[in-house]
Amino acid sequence: MAAKIIDGEAVADQIKQHVQEDANDLKSKGRAPHLVAVQVGENPASRMYTKMQAKNCDSVGIEYDLRTFPDDISQADLISEIGKLNDDDSVTGMILQMPLPRGIDARQVQVTIAPEKDVEGMHPVNMGRLFYGGGHVAPCTPMAAVELLKKTEPDIAGKETVVVGHSEIVGKPIAMLLLESLDASPTVTVCHIATKDLAAHTRRAEVLFVAAGVSQARWLGYNRRRKKGEDVEAPDLKPLVTADMLKEGAIVIDVAINRIPKGFDENGEPVKNKKGKRAMKTVGDVDYEGALDKVAAITPVPGGVGPVTVAMLLKNTIACAKATG
Ligand code: NAD
Repeated sequence: MAAKIIDGEAVADQIKQHVQEDANDLKSKGRAPHLVAVQVGENPASRMYTKMQAKNCDSVGIEYDLRTFPDDISQADLISEIGKLNDDDSVTGMILQMPLPRGIDARQVQVTIAPEKDVEGMHPVNMGRLFYGGGHVAPCTPMAAVELLKKTEPDIAGKETVVVGHSEIVGKPIAMLLLESLDASPTVTVCHIATKDLAAHTRRAEVLFVAAGVSQARWLGYNRRRKKGEDVEAPDLKPLVTADMLKEGAIVIDVAINRIPKGFDENGEPVKNKKGKRAMKTVGDVDYEGALDKVAAITPVPGGVGPVTVAMLLKNTIACAKATG
């Protein structure tokens, strides 16, 4: 059986089209969606994200502003700046760029964003609404993962579904979103680092979500120890979920993004590319090639959950513009 490759870019394009229509509609009602990204200091990864956010917002007609504050801003002053944005009616959504400098507690700052303007769906109030049902936003990556499942298989009632990973931003909200329906939810098992026999769970999964990021964690751990001068063997970077751990005909949503070396030389150094830099690759937590002959459908990494996550941020921005209107 050749697996269907779930095309995240195509699903993202559909969502963005709806977002654009909604943005135009809101503008015509005098409620233009306006997203403000709050950044503290300069950070290359953050710069890449904000550029991508600006481009995506522009493509669907959402106004986007980046407010950058100096990296020596105090936590109290940052919270006060967020308070001003909360009070500004022209700002309909807010996103706090990570990482924040040392000395600033990201959680304490994040909770000061008004829940109605929380486009990332991470505020405890929005998490609570996710639990009780009826919220206007949810965390973007879980929304994306569940959307990709529903586009692939709309009838998920009672399906044996396993989620690997139980973080508050990915694994747990995926489970909550899956359990939203009172009479048509799948049967959900959540696995994590302390799960005793992971394969026993994944092998019975008709639907499998994987969000652990194990290979990258191993690579980063190895790197840290090498930097400290420790003599360590090159890490085993094989995927967490191998083909023998999958059920025939399963639907697999691989949420993980592992940026790892393509291989190691005999000295334990990552192999280099033609430019003399480390040759890296981006992979998920599932053995993608091995899965292709076994499962019914699978998301690629990259090109699966990632692009839909961005589209969900835009969708949440519209939801916030409606909620604050
Ligand atoms: P996290 O480190 O907070 O959580 C990892 C989870 O995996 C934990 O629940 C942990 O118990 C579990 N885990 C770790 N090792 C395990 C093992 N051997 N067996 C079973 N479970 C194990 O990570 P996170 O923030 O939830 O992110 C998870 C993955 O999702 C990462 O690869 C991350 O890059 C990716 N991610 C993707 C997107 C996207 O847009 N596609 C967005 C956010 C995160």
